[in-house]
Amino acid sequence: MVRFDVIVVGAGTAGCLAASSAAEEGLNVCLIDVKSKEDIGRKVCGDAIGKHHFDNLGLKYPSGEELERKVEGVFIYSPDRKSVFEVKGEGLHGFVVNRHLFGQRLLKKALEAGADLHDSTRVVKPLIKNGVVIGVKAKKGSQVEDLYASIVIDASGMNAVIRRNLPPELGIEKEPEKEDVIACYREIRVLREQLPEPEYLRIYLNSQVAPGGYYWIFPEGENKVNVGLGVAMRKGFPNPKAQLYKYVLSQPLFEGSRVIHGGGGLVPTRRPLDRMVSDGLMLVGDVAFQVNPLHGGGIGPSMMAGRIAGKVAAEALEEGDVSTEGLWRYGVEYIREYGAKQAGLDVFRTFLQKLSDEELNYGMRNKLITEEDVLITSMGDELKLNLTEKIVRLFRNLGKIDLIMRLRKLVDLMNEIRDHYRVYPSSLTGLASWKTKALEIMERAKAI
Ligand SMILES: Cc1cc2nc3c(=O)[nH]c(=O)nc-3n(C[C@H](O)[C@H](O)[C@H](O)COP(=O)(O)OP(=O)(O)OC[C@H]3O[C@@H](n4cnc5c(N)ncnc54)[C@H](O)[C@@H]3O)c2cc1C
Repeated sequence: MVRFDVIVVGAGTAGCLAASSAAEEGLNVCLIDVKSKEDIGRKVCGDAIGKHHFDNLGLKYPSGEELERKVEGVFIYSPDRKSVFEVKGEGLHGFVVNRHLFGQRLLKKALEAGADLHDSTRVVKPLIKNGVVIGVKAKKGSQVEDLYASIVIDASGMNAVIRRNLPPELGIEKEPEKEDVIACYREIRVLREQLPEPEYLRIYLNSQVAPGGYYWIFPEGENKVNVGLGVAMRKGFPNPKAQLYKYVLSQPLFEGSRVIHGGGGLVPTRRPLDRMVSDGLMLVGDVAFQVNPLHGGGIGPSMMAGRIAGKVAAEALEEGDVSTEGLWRYGVEYIREYGAKQAGLDVFRTFLQKLSDEELNYGMRNKLITEEDVLITSMGDELKLNLTEKIVRLFRNLGKIDLIMRLRKLVDLMNEIRDHYRVYPSSLTGLASWKTKALEIMERAKAI
Protein backbone atom coordinates (compact mmCIF):
# COMPACT_ATOMS: atom_id res chain seq x y z
CA MET A 1 0.00 0.00 0.00
CA VAL A 2 1.38 3.41 -1.00
CA ARG A 3 1.12 5.81 1.94
CA PHE A 4 2.11 9.46 2.45
CA ASP A 5 1.78 12.05 5.21
CA VAL A 6 0.07 14.40 2.77
CA ILE A 7 -1.39 14.06 -0.72
CA VAL A 8 -1.88 17.36 -2.57
CA VAL A 9 -4.28 17.12 -5.50
CA GLY A 10 -3.36 19.74 -8.12
CA ALA A 11 -0.03 21.45 -8.73
CA GLY A 12 -1.39 24.95 -9.38
CA THR A 13 -0.46 27.96 -7.31
CA ALA A 14 -2.31 26.67 -4.21
CA GLY A 15 -1.07 23.09 -4.52
CA CYS A 16 2.59 23.92 -5.12
CA LEU A 17 2.70 26.20 -2.10
CA ALA A 18 0.90 23.62 0.07
CA ALA A 19 3.29 20.90 -1.10
CA SER A 20 6.43 22.99 -0.65
CA SER A 21 5.51 24.23 2.80
CA ALA A 22 4.50 20.74 4.01
CA ALA A 23 7.68 19.21 2.55
CA GLU A 24 9.82 21.96 4.07
CA GLU A 25 8.39 20.90 7.44
CA GLY A 26 9.79 17.43 6.76
CA LEU A 27 6.55 15.72 5.69
CA ASN A 28 6.39 12.98 3.10
CA VAL A 29 4.34 14.71 0.37
CA CYS A 30 2.80 13.39 -2.83
CA LEU A 31 1.84 16.08 -5.37
CA ILE A 32 -0.51 14.90 -8.12
CA ASP A 33 -1.47 16.69 -11.34
CA VAL A 34 -3.31 15.60 -14.43
CA LYS A 35 -0.89 17.66 -16.54
CA SER A 36 2.55 16.47 -17.58
CA LYS A 37 5.43 17.90 -15.57
CA GLU A 38 6.36 20.21 -18.46
CA ASP A 39 2.81 21.56 -18.80
CA ILE A 40 2.22 22.35 -15.13
CA GLY A 41 1.65 26.09 -14.75
CA ARG A 42 -0.16 26.52 -18.06
CA LYS A 43 -3.46 28.14 -17.17
CA VAL A 44 -5.89 30.55 -18.81
CA CYS A 45 -5.46 33.60 -16.60
CA GLY A 46 -5.01 37.38 -16.61
CA ASP A 47 -1.45 36.69 -15.39
CA ALA A 48 -1.37 39.72 -13.05
CA ILE A 49 -0.15 39.45 -9.43
CA GLY A 50 0.32 42.13 -6.77
CA LYS A 51 3.86 42.66 -5.50
CA HIS A 52 2.65 42.46 -1.88
CA HIS A 53 1.88 38.76 -2.32
CA PHE A 54 5.54 38.06 -3.07
CA ASP A 55 6.57 40.20 -0.09
CA ASN A 56 4.16 38.45 2.28
CA LEU A 57 5.27 34.98 1.19
CA GLY A 58 8.96 35.80 0.96
CA LEU A 59 9.01 34.77 -2.70
CA LYS A 60 11.51 36.27 -5.11
CA TYR A 61 9.97 38.73 -7.60
CA PRO A 62 9.55 37.40 -11.14
CA SER A 63 12.51 38.20 -13.37
CA GLY A 64 14.00 37.24 -16.74
CA GLU A 65 11.61 35.46 -19.07
CA GLU A 66 9.13 34.86 -16.25
CA LEU A 67 8.49 38.60 -16.02
CA GLU A 68 6.32 39.97 -18.83
CA ARG A 69 5.78 43.42 -17.40
CA LYS A 70 6.08 45.42 -14.17
CA VAL A 71 2.75 46.98 -13.17
CA GLU A 72 2.42 50.42 -11.61
CA GLY A 73 -1.33 50.86 -11.56
CA VAL A 74 -4.69 50.33 -13.20
CA PHE A 75 -6.87 52.47 -15.44
CA ILE A 76 -10.56 51.81 -14.73
CA TYR A 77 -12.95 53.02 -17.43
CA SER A 78 -16.59 53.98 -16.81
CA PRO A 79 -19.18 52.36 -19.11
CA ASP A 80 -19.38 55.50 -21.31
CA ARG A 81 -15.54 55.67 -21.19
CA LYS A 82 -15.82 59.36 -20.29
CA SER A 83 -14.29 58.82 -16.84
CA VAL A 84 -11.02 57.04 -16.31
CA PHE A 85 -9.75 56.34 -12.81
CA GLU A 86 -6.00 56.10 -12.60
CA VAL A 87 -5.48 53.93 -9.56
CA LYS A 88 -1.86 53.69 -8.56
CA GLY A 89 0.34 53.48 -5.51
CA GLU A 90 2.51 51.00 -3.67
CA GLY A 91 -0.52 48.73 -3.05
CA LEU A 92 -1.09 48.30 -6.78
CA HIS A 93 2.48 47.60 -7.80
CA GLY A 94 2.80 44.18 -9.27
CA PHE A 95 3.72 42.03 -12.20
CA VAL A 96 2.27 40.47 -15.30
CA VAL A 97 3.97 37.09 -15.45
CA ASN A 98 4.56 34.38 -17.96
CA ARG A 99 2.09 32.08 -16.24
CA HIS A 100 3.74 28.86 -17.42
CA LEU A 101 7.22 29.82 -16.22
CA PHE A 102 5.83 31.18 -12.96
CA GLY A 103 4.00 27.87 -12.38
CA GLN A 104 7.16 25.95 -13.21
CA ARG A 105 9.08 27.97 -10.61
CA LEU A 106 6.51 27.09 -7.93
CA LEU A 107 6.65 23.43 -8.97
CA LYS A 108 10.44 23.44 -8.73
CA LYS A 109 10.17 24.89 -5.25
CA ALA A 110 7.88 22.02 -4.18
CA LEU A 111 10.12 19.38 -5.76
CA GLU A 112 13.29 20.85 -4.26
CA ALA A 113 11.61 20.78 -0.85
CA GLY A 114 11.17 17.03 -1.38
CA ALA A 115 7.60 16.56 -2.70
CA ASP A 116 7.12 13.49 -4.86
CA LEU A 117 5.41 14.44 -8.17
CA HIS A 118 2.88 12.13 -9.81
CA ASP A 119 2.26 13.95 -13.08
CA SER A 120 -0.07 12.99 -15.96
CA THR A 121 -2.21 11.44 -13.21
CA ARG A 122 -5.90 12.18 -12.81
CA VAL A 123 -7.44 11.96 -9.36
CA VAL A 124 -10.86 10.41 -9.80
CA LYS A 125 -12.32 10.67 -6.30
CA PRO A 126 -11.48 10.70 -2.61
CA LEU A 127 -11.19 7.49 -0.60
CA ILE A 128 -13.36 7.82 2.50
CA LYS A 129 -13.68 5.45 5.44
CA ASN A 130 -16.13 6.08 8.28
CA GLY A 131 -16.40 9.74 7.28
CA VAL A 132 -12.61 10.24 7.26
CA VAL A 133 -10.76 11.08 4.02
CA ILE A 134 -7.95 8.54 3.86
CA GLY A 135 -6.59 8.97 0.32
CA VAL A 136 -7.46 9.27 -3.35
CA LYS A 137 -8.22 7.04 -6.29
CA ALA A 138 -5.94 8.07 -9.16
CA LYS A 139 -5.57 7.05 -12.79
CA LYS A 140 -2.43 7.21 -14.93
CA GLY A 141 -3.11 6.01 -18.46
CA SER A 142 -5.18 2.88 -17.99
CA GLN A 143 -3.69 2.16 -14.57
CA VAL A 144 -5.84 2.87 -11.52
CA GLU A 145 -4.15 3.20 -8.14
CA ASP A 146 -5.30 3.91 -4.59
CA LEU A 147 -2.96 6.29 -2.76
CA TYR A 148 -3.27 6.81 0.99
CA ALA A 149 -2.33 9.71 3.27
CA SER A 150 -3.00 11.06 6.74
CA ILE A 151 -4.14 14.32 5.14
CA VAL A 152 -5.47 15.03 1.64
CA ILE A 153 -5.31 18.62 0.39
CA ASP A 154 -7.68 19.40 -2.47
CA ALA A 155 -6.03 22.06 -4.65
CA SER A 156 -7.61 20.99 -7.94
CA GLY A 157 -8.96 24.46 -8.81
CA MET A 158 -12.46 24.86 -10.23
CA ASN A 159 -12.46 21.15 -11.01
CA ALA A 160 -12.65 20.55 -7.22
CA VAL A 161 -12.45 16.80 -7.67
CA ILE A 162 -12.42 16.01 -3.95
CA ARG A 163 -14.88 18.69 -2.76
CA ARG A 164 -17.44 17.70 -5.38
CA ASN A 165 -17.27 14.04 -4.46
CA LEU A 166 -17.73 14.38 -0.70
CA PRO A 167 -20.83 12.92 0.93
CA PRO A 168 -23.19 15.66 2.19
CA GLU A 169 -22.87 14.56 5.83
CA LEU A 170 -19.31 15.96 5.88
CA GLY A 171 -20.96 19.39 5.85
CA ILE A 172 -18.90 20.99 3.08
CA GLU A 173 -20.66 23.10 0.45
CA LYS A 174 -20.55 21.17 -2.83
CA GLU A 175 -21.11 23.87 -5.43
CA PRO A 176 -20.98 27.64 -5.47
CA GLU A 177 -24.12 29.46 -6.64
CA LYS A 178 -23.78 29.98 -10.40
CA GLU A 179 -24.28 33.74 -10.02
CA ASP A 180 -21.15 33.85 -7.83
CA VAL A 181 -19.00 32.46 -10.63
CA ILE A 182 -17.57 34.50 -13.51
CA ALA A 183 -17.16 32.77 -16.88
CA CYS A 184 -14.19 34.19 -18.79
CA TYR A 185 -12.57 34.00 -22.17
CA ARG A 186 -9.17 35.52 -22.84
CA GLU A 187 -6.57 35.70 -25.60
CA ILE A 188 -2.89 36.53 -25.70
CA ARG A 189 -2.41 38.71 -28.77
CA VAL A 190 0.43 40.56 -30.43
CA LEU A 191 -0.62 44.07 -31.44
CA ARG A 192 0.87 46.01 -34.32
CA GLU A 193 2.38 48.41 -31.82
CA GLN A 194 2.88 48.68 -28.10
CA LEU A 195 0.11 50.19 -25.98
CA PRO A 196 0.91 53.59 -24.50
CA GLU A 197 1.75 53.47 -20.77
CA PRO A 198 2.24 49.70 -20.81
CA GLU A 199 2.89 49.66 -17.07
CA TYR A 200 -0.87 50.17 -16.50
CA LEU A 201 -3.50 47.43 -16.56
CA ARG A 202 -6.84 48.42 -18.14
CA ILE A 203 -10.23 47.42 -16.73
CA TYR A 204 -13.46 48.38 -18.51
CA LEU A 205 -16.86 48.34 -16.81
CA ASN A 206 -19.87 47.94 -19.06
CA SER A 207 -22.92 45.83 -18.29
CA GLN A 208 -23.91 45.49 -21.95
CA VAL A 209 -20.54 44.08 -22.89
CA ALA A 210 -19.63 42.20 -19.70
CA PRO A 211 -22.74 41.83 -17.51
CA GLY A 212 -21.76 41.25 -13.87
CA GLY A 213 -18.05 41.33 -14.76
CA TYR A 214 -15.65 43.42 -16.81
CA TYR A 215 -13.28 43.23 -19.72
CA TRP A 216 -9.57 43.83 -19.47
CA ILE A 217 -6.48 44.60 -21.49
CA PHE A 218 -3.27 43.81 -19.63
CA PRO A 219 -0.04 44.72 -21.45
CA GLU A 220 2.53 41.92 -21.48
CA GLY A 221 6.07 42.00 -22.92
CA GLU A 222 6.74 44.17 -26.02
CA ASN A 223 3.54 44.39 -28.14
CA LYS A 224 1.78 41.48 -26.44
CA VAL A 225 -1.45 41.92 -24.49
CA ASN A 226 -3.64 39.67 -22.38
CA VAL A 227 -7.18 40.63 -23.38
CA GLY A 228 -10.22 39.00 -21.85
CA LEU A 229 -13.79 39.32 -20.71
CA GLY A 230 -15.75 37.84 -17.81
CA VAL A 231 -19.51 37.65 -17.24
CA ALA A 232 -21.48 36.56 -14.16
CA MET A 233 -23.12 33.19 -14.76
CA ARG A 234 -26.61 34.53 -14.06
CA LYS A 235 -29.61 33.12 -15.91
CA GLY A 236 -29.22 33.64 -19.67
CA PHE A 237 -25.66 35.01 -19.43
CA PRO A 238 -23.96 35.66 -22.78
CA ASN A 239 -21.01 33.72 -24.15
CA PRO A 240 -17.86 35.61 -23.05
CA LYS A 241 -15.94 34.68 -26.20
CA ALA A 242 -18.70 35.99 -28.46
CA GLN A 243 -18.86 39.21 -26.38
CA LEU A 244 -15.08 39.66 -26.56
CA TYR A 245 -15.08 39.28 -30.34
CA LYS A 246 -18.13 41.47 -30.88
CA TYR A 247 -17.29 44.40 -28.61
CA VAL A 248 -13.59 44.34 -27.84
CA LEU A 249 -11.53 42.65 -30.53
CA SER A 250 -13.50 44.63 -33.15
CA GLN A 251 -11.91 47.83 -31.81
CA PRO A 252 -9.26 49.49 -34.08
CA LEU A 253 -6.56 48.68 -31.50
CA PHE A 254 -6.79 44.99 -32.47
CA GLU A 255 -6.74 45.47 -36.24
CA GLY A 256 -3.99 43.32 -37.73
CA SER A 257 -3.23 41.69 -34.34
CA ARG A 258 -2.16 38.06 -34.08
CA VAL A 259 -3.53 35.47 -31.63
CA ILE A 260 -0.95 33.46 -29.70
CA HIS A 261 -3.35 31.63 -27.40
CA GLY A 262 -7.06 31.66 -26.55
CA GLY A 263 -9.06 29.87 -23.88
CA GLY A 264 -11.78 30.03 -21.27
CA GLY A 265 -12.00 29.55 -17.51
CA LEU A 266 -14.14 30.08 -14.43
CA VAL A 267 -13.51 32.25 -11.37
CA PRO A 268 -15.36 31.89 -8.03
CA THR A 269 -15.84 35.56 -7.06
CA ARG A 270 -17.33 35.30 -3.59
CA ARG A 271 -16.43 35.05 0.07
CA PRO A 272 -14.43 31.93 0.98
CA LEU A 273 -16.03 28.59 1.73
CA ASP A 274 -17.28 28.74 5.30
CA ARG A 275 -15.86 25.34 6.13
CA MET A 276 -12.49 24.39 4.67
CA VAL A 277 -11.58 21.22 6.57
CA SER A 278 -12.97 17.84 7.47
CA ASP A 279 -11.42 14.75 9.05
CA GLY A 280 -8.21 14.15 7.04
CA LEU A 281 -9.04 16.88 4.50
CA MET A 282 -8.16 20.50 3.70
CA LEU A 283 -9.38 22.61 0.77
CA VAL A 284 -7.20 25.36 -0.74
CA GLY A 285 -7.30 27.87 -3.61
CA ASP A 286 -10.21 28.04 -6.06
CA VAL A 287 -11.59 24.84 -4.48
CA ALA A 288 -12.26 26.92 -1.36
CA PHE A 289 -13.29 30.09 -3.30
CA GLN A 290 -10.18 31.98 -2.16
CA VAL A 291 -10.35 34.76 -4.74
CA ASN A 292 -10.68 38.53 -4.49
CA PRO A 293 -14.40 38.93 -5.39
CA LEU A 294 -13.90 42.40 -6.83
CA HIS A 295 -11.26 41.76 -9.48
CA GLY A 296 -11.06 37.96 -9.48
CA GLY A 297 -7.39 37.78 -8.50
CA GLY A 298 -6.81 34.38 -6.93
CA ILE A 299 -3.12 33.67 -7.38
CA GLY A 300 -2.02 35.56 -4.26
CA PRO A 301 -4.69 34.24 -1.85
CA SER A 302 -4.33 30.69 -3.16
CA MET A 303 -0.58 30.77 -2.48
CA MET A 304 -1.19 32.23 0.98
CA ALA A 305 -3.74 29.50 1.75
CA GLY A 306 -1.42 26.79 0.42
CA ARG A 307 1.36 28.03 2.67
CA ILE A 308 -0.90 28.04 5.76
CA ALA A 309 -2.35 24.61 4.92
CA GLY A 310 1.11 23.01 4.60
CA LYS A 311 2.21 24.46 7.91
CA VAL A 312 -0.99 23.43 9.75
CA ALA A 313 -0.74 19.92 8.25
CA ALA A 314 2.71 19.56 9.78
CA GLU A 315 1.53 20.82 13.19
CA ALA A 316 -1.50 18.49 13.14
CA LEU A 317 0.64 15.48 12.30
CA GLU A 318 3.12 16.42 15.02
CA GLU A 319 0.25 16.57 17.50
CA GLY A 320 -1.23 13.34 16.15
CA ASP A 321 -4.61 14.92 15.42
CA VAL A 322 -5.69 15.20 11.77
CA SER A 323 -9.39 15.40 12.63
CA THR A 324 -11.55 18.40 11.80
CA GLU A 325 -10.59 19.95 15.14
CA GLY A 326 -6.88 19.29 14.59
CA LEU A 327 -6.95 20.97 11.15
CA TRP A 328 -9.45 23.72 12.03
CA ARG A 329 -6.86 26.43 12.65
CA TYR A 330 -6.05 26.49 8.92
CA GLY A 331 -9.49 27.97 8.17
CA VAL A 332 -9.25 30.34 11.12
CA GLU A 333 -5.88 31.66 10.04
CA TYR A 334 -6.89 32.07 6.40
CA ILE A 335 -10.23 33.72 7.13
CA ARG A 336 -8.87 36.12 9.68
CA GLU A 337 -5.93 37.04 7.42
CA TYR A 338 -7.66 37.32 4.04
CA GLY A 339 -11.17 35.82 4.13
CA ALA A 340 -12.56 38.78 6.10
CA LYS A 341 -11.39 41.14 3.33
CA GLN A 342 -12.93 38.82 0.77
CA ALA A 343 -16.27 38.90 2.58
CA GLY A 344 -16.33 42.72 2.61
CA LEU A 345 -15.50 42.75 -1.09
CA ASP A 346 -18.19 40.14 -1.77
CA VAL A 347 -20.76 42.59 -0.40
CA PHE A 348 -19.26 45.32 -2.62
CA ARG A 349 -19.28 43.02 -5.66
CA THR A 350 -22.96 42.13 -5.11
CA PHE A 351 -23.76 45.84 -5.02
CA LEU A 352 -21.68 46.77 -8.07
CA GLN A 353 -23.27 44.02 -10.15
CA LYS A 354 -26.64 45.62 -9.60
CA LEU A 355 -25.65 49.17 -10.52
CA SER A 356 -26.79 50.33 -13.93
CA ASP A 357 -24.27 51.71 -16.39
CA GLU A 358 -25.92 55.10 -15.94
CA GLU A 359 -25.36 54.97 -12.16
CA LEU A 360 -21.74 53.93 -12.67
CA ASN A 361 -21.19 56.77 -15.14
CA TYR A 362 -22.68 59.28 -12.68
CA GLY A 363 -20.81 57.85 -9.72
CA MET A 364 -17.44 57.91 -11.46
CA ARG A 365 -17.94 61.26 -13.16
CA ASN A 366 -18.89 62.92 -9.87
CA LYS A 367 -16.28 61.07 -7.85
CA LEU A 368 -18.71 59.50 -5.40
CA ILE A 369 -15.84 57.14 -4.85
CA THR A 370 -12.38 58.46 -5.57
CA GLU A 371 -9.40 56.72 -7.14
CA GLU A 372 -7.84 56.46 -3.70
CA ASP A 373 -10.97 54.79 -2.34
CA VAL A 374 -10.87 52.25 -5.14
CA LEU A 375 -7.28 51.46 -4.25
CA ILE A 376 -8.04 51.16 -0.54
CA THR A 377 -11.15 49.06 -1.16
CA SER A 378 -9.52 46.71 -3.61
CA MET A 379 -6.88 46.01 -0.98
CA GLY A 380 -9.74 45.00 1.31
CA ASP A 381 -9.59 47.95 3.65
CA GLU A 382 -12.51 50.07 4.74
CA LEU A 383 -14.49 51.81 1.98
CA LYS A 384 -14.94 55.52 2.59
CA LEU A 385 -17.40 57.55 0.59
CA ASN A 386 -16.68 60.96 -0.77
CA LEU A 387 -19.99 62.39 0.47
CA THR A 388 -19.30 66.11 0.64
CA GLU A 389 -22.24 68.53 0.97
CA LYS A 390 -21.71 69.46 -2.68
CA ILE A 391 -21.98 65.86 -3.89
CA VAL A 392 -25.06 65.11 -1.81
CA ARG A 393 -26.72 68.28 -3.16
CA LEU A 394 -25.79 67.37 -6.72
CA PHE A 395 -27.26 63.89 -6.41
CA ARG A 396 -30.41 65.24 -4.76
CA ASN A 397 -30.84 67.70 -7.66
CA LEU A 398 -30.34 64.87 -10.15
CA GLY A 399 -33.06 62.88 -8.34
CA LYS A 400 -30.44 60.28 -7.39
CA ILE A 401 -30.38 60.62 -3.63
CA ASP A 402 -31.42 56.98 -3.45
CA LEU A 403 -27.98 55.97 -4.73
CA ILE A 404 -26.35 57.83 -1.84
CA MET A 405 -28.58 56.08 0.71
CA ARG A 406 -27.75 52.70 -0.83
CA LEU A 407 -24.04 53.48 -0.75
CA ARG A 408 -24.27 54.32 2.95
CA LYS A 409 -25.94 50.99 3.63
CA LEU A 410 -23.26 49.28 1.57
CA VAL A 411 -20.42 50.71 3.65
CA ASP A 412 -22.15 49.64 6.89
CA LEU A 413 -22.70 46.11 5.63
CA MET A 414 -19.14 45.78 4.35
CA ASN A 415 -17.90 46.68 7.82
CA GLU A 416 -20.41 44.39 9.51
CA ILE A 417 -19.50 41.33 7.47
CA ARG A 418 -15.77 41.95 7.82
CA ASP A 419 -16.13 42.19 11.59
CA HIS A 420 -18.15 38.99 11.57
CA TYR A 421 -15.49 37.12 9.57
CA ARG A 422 -12.83 38.38 11.97
CA VAL A 423 -14.55 36.37 14.71
CA TYR A 424 -14.72 33.18 12.65
CA PRO A 425 -15.23 30.43 15.24
CA SER A 426 -12.16 28.80 16.71
CA SER A 427 -13.79 25.35 16.55
CA LEU A 428 -16.50 23.51 14.62
CA THR A 429 -18.91 23.96 17.54
CA GLY A 430 -19.45 27.65 16.77
CA LEU A 431 -19.81 27.23 13.00
CA ALA A 432 -23.58 26.77 12.63
CA SER A 433 -24.60 29.98 14.41
CA TRP A 434 -21.72 31.93 12.81
CA LYS A 435 -22.81 30.74 9.37
CA THR A 436 -26.45 31.70 9.96
CA LYS A 437 -25.40 35.24 10.78
CA ALA A 438 -23.03 35.43 7.76
CA LEU A 439 -25.84 34.35 5.41
CA GLU A 440 -28.21 36.82 7.01
CA ILE A 441 -25.75 39.69 6.36
CA MET A 442 -25.35 38.53 2.75
CA GLU A 443 -29.15 38.51 2.32
CA ARG A 444 -29.28 42.11 3.51
CA ALA A 445 -26.44 42.97 1.12
CA LYS A 446 -28.35 41.47 -1.80
CA ALA A 447 -31.38 43.54 -0.87
CA ILE A 448 -29.60 46.94 -1.03
C1 LIG B 1 -9.59 33.95 -17.26
C2 LIG B 1 -9.03 34.07 -15.88
C3 LIG B 1 -8.27 35.17 -15.55
C4 LIG B 1 -7.70 35.27 -14.28
N1 LIG B 1 -6.87 36.31 -14.03
C5 LIG B 1 -6.21 36.38 -12.85
C6 LIG B 1 -5.23 37.37 -12.63
O1 LIG B 1 -4.89 38.19 -13.50
N2 LIG B 1 -4.63 37.40 -11.42
C7 LIG B 1 -4.93 36.49 -10.43
O2 LIG B 1 -4.36 36.58 -9.33
N3 LIG B 1 -5.84 35.53 -10.63
C8 LIG B 1 -6.48 35.43 -11.83
N4 LIG B 1 -7.37 34.41 -12.05
C9 LIG B 1 -7.66 33.45 -10.97
C10 LIG B 1 -6.49 32.51 -10.74
O3 LIG B 1 -6.06 31.98 -11.97
C11 LIG B 1 -6.90 31.37 -9.79
O4 LIG B 1 -7.62 31.89 -8.70
C12 LIG B 1 -5.67 30.64 -9.25
O5 LIG B 1 -4.90 30.13 -10.30
C13 LIG B 1 -6.12 29.49 -8.34
O6 LIG B 1 -5.13 28.55 -8.20
P1 LIG B 1 -5.43 27.03 -7.80
O7 LIG B 1 -4.11 26.46 -7.51
O8 LIG B 1 -6.49 26.99 -6.77
O9 LIG B 1 -6.07 26.37 -9.09
P2 LIG B 1 -5.40 26.08 -10.51
O10 LIG B 1 -4.33 27.05 -10.79
O11 LIG B 1 -6.53 25.97 -11.44
O12 LIG B 1 -4.70 24.66 -10.32
C14 LIG B 1 -5.40 23.46 -10.24
C15 LIG B 1 -4.50 22.34 -10.67
O13 LIG B 1 -5.18 21.10 -10.42
C16 LIG B 1 -5.01 20.24 -11.52
N5 LIG B 1 -6.15 19.32 -11.53
C17 LIG B 1 -7.45 19.62 -11.72
N6 LIG B 1 -8.22 18.52 -11.62
C18 LIG B 1 -7.37 17.50 -11.35
C19 LIG B 1 -7.57 16.09 -11.15
N7 LIG B 1 -8.79 15.55 -11.20
N8 LIG B 1 -6.50 15.32 -10.92
C20 LIG B 1 -5.25 15.87 -10.86
N9 LIG B 1 -5.01 17.18 -11.06
C21 LIG B 1 -6.07 17.99 -11.29
C22 LIG B 1 -4.94 21.16 -12.72
O14 LIG B 1 -4.27 20.56 -13.81
C23 LIG B 1 -4.18 22.36 -12.15
O15 LIG B 1 -2.79 22.24 -12.35
C24 LIG B 1 -7.95 34.27 -13.31
C25 LIG B 1 -8.72 33.16 -13.63
C26 LIG B 1 -9.25 33.05 -14.90
C27 LIG B 1 -10.06 31.82 -15.26
